[in-house]
Parts: sequence; structure tokens; C-alpha cells
Amino acid sequence: MPGMARAPVVPLVESRSGNIWRVRMLGDYVNGFLVRDPDGQVTLIDVGLRRSAPRVLEALGAVGSAPSQVTRIVLTHAHADHAGAAAALSDRTGRDVDVHRADAAYIRAGEAAPVSGVARLLPRRVFSFAAATVGEELVDGQLLDVAGGLRVVHTPGHSPGHISLVHEDSRLLITGDALFNMRGVGWPGKYFCTDFRLTQRTAHVLGELDYDLAAFTHGPELRERPRETIRAFLRRHPSTAVSGGT
Ligand SMILES: [Zn+2]
Repeated sequence: MPGMARAPVVPLVESRSGNIWRVRMLGDYVNGFLVRDPDGQVTLIDVGLRRSAPRVLEALGAVGSAPSQVTRIVLTHAHADHAGAAAALSDRTGRDVDVHRADAAYIRAGEAAPVSGVARLLPRRVFSFAAATVGEELVDGQLLDVAGGLRVVHTPGHSPGHISLVHEDSRLLITGDALFNMRGVGWPGKYFCTDFRLTQRTAHVLGELDYDLAAFTHGPELRERPRETIRAFLRRHPSTAVSGGT
């Protein structure tokens, strides 16, 4: 269908507990998510690059919601392609930004969580974004009061406070940058992780969760056998850091 390639949203979940869309910030390369409760309250999950604010507003319009209905902004981690428009959208909606407590300081400072290896040689401005006010500091296992319950799963490594999210009612997993799906399931860029070995180790948490649909912040969702696909990837990439652990 003409125009579909540029559609701002892709429907993921339509349920009695709420509706969820993927927000396409930059094709399928950079995604956020929009969750709408049955009462009309909207939660934004990741808001793309600094220039993505108009795109998020376009997505809101496309689903028939207004910026004034946004009651929550949640970030999976402190990187400029996820938190870039957080300050602008926080201003626009009057909502602070919720992020895991281990990434909160980076959001307040407008700087990315530490990178590693050769990426440390890049100028800091490459990674910076507009500082935003943090509201709630999230913790592992927390159930957010969003669409009947959105589970916070701490998946550190890509950043210290990186989280994945599970909408348990609809069995949707949002991986964040713990795993990409750009040309099949894969790792995020090694040097853009604070600790790549921890990224690899922690990704195995995602293989143990229950879900029937896996959505990614980089790449399209997996609708067919996502758990099997992710587990197959993880089997091919066993974590070398795990040795007889739990
Ligand atoms: Zn990232």
C-alpha cells in the first residue's frame, strides 16, 4: 500500500487492557512505543532522536490521541536515539521521564551511559542529548500501572540501567537495545555498550520470559515464534561469562 512505508505507527496489541503501537521514528531503524489505556491515558516508551519530537506527535495524532493525554514517558535507557526527544516531549506534555535508577543520572545530565572500546574516542557531543527531568526511578521487577501492567525487566550491559518491558496481558516483549532485529536477531553494537559481555549475559534473561510477540527498538517486530527465534539466537551465542551460575 502506498504510504505504508512512512506510516508513523504499526499496531502491535489491541486488547481490553489497552492498545500498543510501535512508533517508527526512522523507518524501522529507530522505534519507540505508544501504549494507550482504555481510559485514554497514553504512555510513551522511548522517544527517538532529538529531532523525533514531531514524529512522536504525528504518531499520537495517527492514533487519535492528544499530547495532553500523555501521562507517562518511560525510557529503556540513556542513549541519544531513545532519549533524544525526551526533554522536548516532557515540556510538551508536562510529564517527567521515568527511567531505571542506574541510568537516571545520565538523563538528568543529557549524556549517554558510558560507551566502550573505540567508541570512547568519538566526541562526546555525538552521544549527548537535551537533559530531562527524571520522575520515577524504576527498579527490576516493578509492575507499572500501564495497560493492566507493564513489567520492568532490568537487562543491564548495553547501559547500566537498561530495561526491557513485558506487557503480560498480551504477552508482548519490548527488548529495548538488549537485542536488535535489524537483519535477524543480533547484538547491539559492541562498543556502544557500557559492558558488552554483560549485554550478552543479560540477554539470556529474555530467553526465559514468556511472550508471543517480540518488539525491538531497532528493527521490526517478530510475530512468528519470537521466543523460539530469540532462544535459537542465544543458543548460537552462549554467554561465555556464565559458568555454572544461576
Ligand atoms: Zn542504545
